[in-house]
This record gives sequence, structure tokens and C-alpha cells, in this order.
Amino acid sequence: KSGFVSILGRPNVGKSTLMNRVIGEKIAIMSDKPQTTRNKIQSVYTDENFQIVFLDTPGIHKPKNKLGEYMVKAATSTLNDVDLVLFVVDDSKTIGPGDRRIIEDLKKVKTPIILVINKIDNLNKEELIEIVDNYNKEGVFTEIVPVSALKGANVNTLIDVVKKYI
Ligand code: GDP
Ligand code: MG
Repeated sequence: KSGFVSILGRPNVGKSTLMNRVIGEKIAIMSDKPQTTRNKIQSVYTDENFQIVFLDTPGIHKPKNKLGEYMVKAATSTLNDVDLVLFVVDDSKTIGPGDRRIIEDLKKVKTPIILVINKIDNLNKEELIEIVDNYNKEGVFTEIVPVSALKGANVNTLIDVVKKYI
């Protein structure tokens, strides 16, 4: 099976680290050049049964002008064309304005959206439960998967979840 997955999230939440983990020792194309196109291939996961293309999706931000508005519309429509969206957040205890803005845009997207809470190595159980509860209230996420990209915790679970949607 093959499919496309859009990854989005604020800078520094750990998207690149996570992709490195997902790809692991599998055959992969990795790209970390500055953004030039609207849908840069970030990496390709390949195993016996799957080829999954991960797309780095920029540009869901507050539009400052007409061009910005166009970019946001383009990014949002891209999200409707893929099999799955991964929205990556970090260990922040509350939903900040950057994440809030993305979530509001995601409410218009029809594709299933999985919330990936990264950096759980910085959180205790109670803190994680509170964060999960906060995001659940938004009613936009099909599933929530906590991981530590840095330590590799729960990344295999995430891969299994992604495969369900391909
Ligand atoms: P990106 O901008 O979303 O691609 O984020 P990066 O992958 O470049 O990561 C940003 C910073 O967060 C780096 O210093 C990473 O080492 C760190 N980081 C990524 N994942 C984790 C994690 O699971 N736990 C912790 N503690 N730090 C992480
Ligand atoms: Mg990156």
C-alpha cells in the first residue's frame, strides 16, 4: 500500500527528529533544506508492505495580506488531498496561540488528523493526561499518540496507527 501523510506543527516541536525516528534504518529520503515549495517531501518510509510519503506542510499561519491568505488556503486544501494529517505539538502544558491558530484551521479539514504529542520524556503521567484532555476538548483529533522522538518511545505505535489510514 502507498499513501501520503502531511506533517505540520510549529518550529522546534520535533518534526525532523520524529521523522528520523520513523524512518530509522528503512530506505529513506530525508530533506531538511529551507522551504522552497509548498509541499516538500520530508521523507519516505518503505517496508515490505508500505510506502508512505511524509510531506512537510508549511504555511498555516495568520495571513498578513492577500498572498498570505492564498498560502493558507493552498496549505489547507493540500491537507484535504492526503490520506492522513499528523499535527505535532511539544510538551507545552497549555495550548499556545500558535497551536490554537493551527487547530482552528484544522477544523475545516476533512482528512483524519492525528495529534502527536512529542517530548513526553519531559512530562509525568499527570501532566500528560492533562494535555491529552485539553486537546480532546477540541474535537478535531481522530487519535492522540504521545511519543518521545528523542528517546524513541512509542514511535512504533505511531507507525502502526499511521498504517491504519493508508
Ligand atoms: P522541528 O523544527 O519541528 O523539525 O524540530 P527538531 O526536530 O529540529 O527539534 C527541535 C529540538 O527539540 C531539538 O533540539 C531536538 O533535539 C528537540 N527534541 C525533539 N524531539 C524531542 C523529544 O522527544 N524530547 C526532547 N526532550 N527533545 C526533543
Ligand atoms: Mg525541522
